[in-house]
Order: sequence, then structure tokens, then C-alpha cells
Amino acid sequence: MIPAPKKIKQYVKEFPLAGLYRFHFLSGGHDPILPKLASDIEKRLQHVSKYYEVDPRTKIDIVLNLQPFPSKKPDGYYELEVSPGFFALNAESIAGMNYAARTLMQHLYINRANQDEDSFALLPRISVKDWPTYQWRGMHLDVSRHFYDHNFVKKYLDWMVGLKFNRFHWHLSDDQGWRLESKRFPLLHEKGSWRTESDGSKYGGHYSLRQIKSVLKHARLRGIEVIPEIDIPGHSMAILAAYPELACFPREFEPMNVWGISEDILCAGKDETIEFLKELFTEIAELFPGQYIHLGGDEAPKQRWKECPHCQKRMRDNGLKDEEALQAWLVKTLATHLKKLGKTVIGWDEILDGGIDSKPVVMAWRGDGIDAARMAHDNGNKYILTPYTKLYFDARCHKLDKIGTHQIIFWSDVLGFSFQEYTFENPKLLLGAQGNVWTEHLTNVRDLREKVSGRMFPLAERLWNGDGEIDVQDFWMMASTLNWIL
Ligand SMILES: [Zn+2]
Repeated sequence: MIPAPKKIKQYVKEFPLAGLYRFHFLSGGHDPILPKLASDIEKRLQHVSKYYEVDPRTKIDIVLNLQPFPSKKPDGYYELEVSPGFFALNAESIAGMNYAARTLMQHLYINRANQDEDSFALLPRISVKDWPTYQWRGMHLDVSRHFYDHNFVKKYLDWMVGLKFNRFHWHLSDDQGWRLESKRFPLLHEKGSWRTESDGSKYGGHYSLRQIKSVLKHARLRGIEVIPEIDIPGHSMAILAAYPELACFPREFEPMNVWGISEDILCAGKDETIEFLKELFTEIAELFPGQYIHLGGDEAPKQRWKECPHCQKRMRDNGLKDEEALQAWLVKTLATHLKKLGKTVIGWDEILDGGIDSKPVVMAWRGDGIDAARMAHDNGNKYILTPYTKLYFDARCHKLDKIGTHQIIFWSDVLGFSFQEYTFENPKLLLGAQGNVWTEHLTNVRDLREKVSGRMFPLAERLWNGDGEIDVQDFWMMASTLNWIL
């Protein structure tokens, strides 16, 4: 299975698989989510069962037991018992229940060939106790460079939970487009979500609040936390297209129709920019129920700030030694604001450059991420690994692959990913890792699926089980068997 369960006991004895499932719920609070979860599980079990010849007259009782365990367990812990006529899924969280179900589905699928010609399908009895090694098992999706609609995003969440990922980092704004309906600042989606391509055509789109909420519901049912990213102060041409007065030197801006970095960024000197950002992030915080909000912070050239009287005044007033320190001041101002709303801020590793306190979580992305991870660690910040040279899934998959960035990251490189290099004196600061999927080169679902599918399997394994020996060939065979998950 992928990821491999930590403890699995497989019995020699097999039993014939029945044709009907009958669900039972045990839950302290009668959580209304259980029937929904069960119907989702049933749908998928039926999908997997298509590969079997089963006895339609017999039934299997499936018990979903969503209750606290008597003793303390790691987040995401679950137990699964598969025995004749009776499957038991035990978990104390929605996420854990999903993992139990996914392990069950993989077990059914992997044994589908286990069929005697003259009788019904046989299934080995198993007993599983399982939990993840890393708590941040993330996948990222850039919907700014190319827009992927909310139905696809739900499918992406299905792929994720299929491999027991639990954090969806949704890159909702960038120079090339704003993708979120804003009640407070409607020009963001009205103006900022459409760009004029070089041939004169219009490209864009955004999610309505209703669509966002339906994605959030989909995620909750799968135990996935959604982390919205609004990238500031750089990568913000779509915001400036809507509200040009937030720039150091206002003029007419358009969402960019080429890739790269813009010199124009949000002005950190003007009070109206700070007020705008506080209100905007308040709106985001109210919409997204999770703990984290990502405010970008990457690739923000400081030329405008050097020339801007407002920015220079802000620096003088606050005793900030340079423009990097001004960015750190901005991050701190927003992090303090968001903390009052119960949120923790995440930023790309550039936020460390100007000296920040230890509260924001850092995503280490530059190069192989080791230096950034070290910096975050030494500054006392929690950090997540998203190294450019290792976990950027928009890279080409192999030498003949024509789609993607210029670098090649083989799926076997991802399987070779080791947390050891990023683990220092305090291992608790390392939360986990995630695959980043930027979409400059990924214009459609087919290309995107091709880029992520091969590499999500090994990343899922590493995140669930950490470092250790894995037979590359066996792993590949197993991943091929399970390619229906994506
Ligand atoms: Zn300025």
C-alpha cells in the first residue's frame, strides 16, 4: 500500500468477499458528517468492487467508529480490522476515518486478482494500526497563472486524500490573476481576475463565495485543511490593477500576461495599504476556517520602496535599517492582526531576510531549501519543506518530457527525498513538506495530472513514514497498481 501502514498484520486465512455493504455509525456526538463520509466511502468501495465477482446475497457490516481512543494517539491515527463479514474503522478524527477507509480501499483493490475461478473473490484478513510521521503533508496549487475551476479543485482534494495528504495550499492570487470573490473589495475579482493575452484575447476567472464554500466543505469531509495564499507585497499586479492607489507610484496597472517578477509591488509606506490588507485578510480569515493563512512574501523587488517617500518615511519612523526590514515590519504587522483573529501566518522563506520573530511558519523553497530551513530553525520558526530543486512538481518528469520548467525531477528523486538534511537540534520545528504545483506551463488538467501523479506517490510515502530504505522497483509496481487513485 502507499503510504505503507506503520503496523499491519496480514493473516493467511482468506474469506469470500460479500456483495453488499451495510454501514453502522458509532459516534459520541452523532456527527452529521458520518453519514456523508459513509456514503462517500461506499461509492468508492463500489468502484473498487467492480473488479470482483462477489456473492450478491451476502452482506458485510462496516462499522465507522468515530470516537476518542482511551489513550493518547498521534494526530491522524486510525485502526482498521478486515475480517469475515465485518470491517471496523476506528478513528477519533475525520482525517483518521478517511485514512482507515483509504487503506481499506487499497487492500480491496490490491487483492482484486485473488480470485478462484469457481468461487467468489477472496480477501485476506488484516489488522492495521497506523499514523503519520509528519503532520504537514501538503500539496499546493497555483490557480493564478492558469485557472482551474472549483470542480477540478475538488478532484485534486480527492487525489490528495487518496494518498493521505492533509494540507491544501491554494495559491489564489498573483501578478497574472486574482481568483477569489471579495465582498469587501469587489474590484479584485471584477478587474483583477482577467488579463489580456498578447493576442488580444481575455483569460481569467474567479471562484464565487459559494464555490469556495463548497470546496471547503469537500475538504472538511476529507480531513484536509485549506490554506489560502494571498501573495503580498510582491506578485500583486492583479491587486494593483484593481486598486492602483496601493502602489508606491500609482498608474494604470494590468494583470500581467507574461511570467516573471514585477518591479511594482504594494507600498508598505502608505497607511491605506496597511488598512486595505488588514481588511482583506480579515475577510479571508472569516471565510477560511483553518488555522493558517499564507501571505506569500516571496520575490518582492525593493526598487520602488527605495524611491518611495512613503516607504522611506515608514522606515525612518520605525527605525528600520533597510527595505528588507520594512518587509519584515509588514509581515509582523499583518501577523499580529491575524493572530487576534486566531490565525497563524505562513510565508515563503524570504520573510526571514529582514529579521522576523519566531511566530510565522516558514516555507523553505529557495534552492534545495537547506539554508532556509537552517535559518528558520535557528530563528525558532516552525518550517515546512518545499524545496525548488526537489519538490516543485511543475518540473519536467524526465528528459523527453516537453512540458514544465527547465529542471527535471524524476519520481525516483522524490522517493529519495530525505528529511535528515533538514532536521536540526530541535526536530519539532520541522512540520513536514509539500509538493508545489505552479502553473505557468500547465495550461490544462491533463498536463497537470501528468506532472503530479507520478510524484505524489513517493512524496506521500515519505511524509507518512519519513526516511528509510525502500525498494524502488517494488514501489513503482505498487504505484502503478494504485494509479486509479489519481
Ligand atoms: Zn511605497
